[in-house]
Amino acid sequence: MSGVSEVPVGPVPTPVAALRRIAFLLERAREDTYKVKAYRGAAAAVLPLGDDEVVRRAAEGTLTDLPGVGASTAKVIAAAARGEVPDRLARVEEELAGPLTADRAGEELRAALRGDLHSHSDWSDGGSPLEEMAMTALELGHEYLVLTDHSPRLKVARGLSAERLAKQLDVIDAVNEHLGGGFTLLKGIEVDILDDGRLDQTTAMLDRLDLRVASVHSKLRMDGAAMTRRMVAAVHQPHTNVLGHCTGRLVTGGRGTRPPSDFDARAVFEACAEQGVAVEINSRPERRDPPTALLELARDLGCLFSIDSDAHAPGQLDFLVLGCERAEAAGIEPDRIVNTWPRDRLIAWARPG
Ligand SMILES: [Zn+2]
Ligand SMILES: [Zn+2]
Repeated sequence: MSGVSEVPVGPVPTPVAALRRIAFLLERAREDTYKVKAYRGAAAAVLPLGDDEVVRRAAEGTLTDLPGVGASTAKVIAAAARGEVPDRLARVEEELAGPLTADRAGEELRAALRGDLHSHSDWSDGGSPLEEMAMTALELGHEYLVLTDHSPRLKVARGLSAERLAKQLDVIDAVNEHLGGGFTLLKGIEVDILDDGRLDQTTAMLDRLDLRVASVHSKLRMDGAAMTRRMVAAVHQPHTNVLGHCTGRLVTGGRGTRPPSDFDARAVFEACAEQGVAVEINSRPERRDPPTALLELARDLGCLFSIDSDAHAPGQLDFLVLGCERAEAAGIEPDRIVNTWPRDRLIAWARPG
């Protein structure tokens, strides 16, 4: 698998495949969500229709009568229905489908990754249904994707209560049944680290999950000694498997910039190494977390790592190569990166106790 996105689209995509591919490439290029929504919405509108109806509506010019289909998406649908490659698709393929890293850096390590441990759906603050996240991960060649929607305390991100999480687990079971055995959507959470280092979900629910990413999302400016105690306590929780975006910094992007939290990185990473908790290399371009000096410190202290997309949209699942580029530059051996491991080894490692 290379950094060039390889969601397969034949020479003549179906209307739904053309719309999904355009949306994927826009998301991968970090285009504004509202632009992408038109394509995702139109794909959802056309999906339940039979081929005959799509062809008939394209011929009659009535595609735009469908809710969610506008003038530009109708053009894409009509071209694909006529058996042509839509112009818009050809353009985004040309402009946006190239490698995400200079000189294809990180692609060798990317090829060794079997999955992704951190992703969001529209159950919390992601933009797409979990089925679409799973389908795209499968198309990218992943063996597994851990769905890690937010925990209750993160209300701005519609964090899941224990009840909603329980419902989500049933939906994940149904999706896996439908997808068959080659790919698994794993049950996870991005659980908030509370001020005292406890995790923001019930023990019963944490027990039912395959894997848990624990992250700080509140009081990022807490004083250094208190933040260190908080993070070390979280790493010692028996359910914590991955320490998400440890510094919380933002280096670029629409949300502005934010300095890293103040904490004793050596103490936190020593706890991670001792507890077998993986330090996340967060691939989001605006995070690049941990910063290089901390990444090298965690490497020298013998930590495990996970390279995660933290995708909030399907196309962002392709961000992994950006984290791989940084891990490669730091000389981190693939076997210390837990998402190079086969699914069963990963799940056994993540089991508490
Ligand atoms: Zn987070
Ligand atoms: Zn996240």
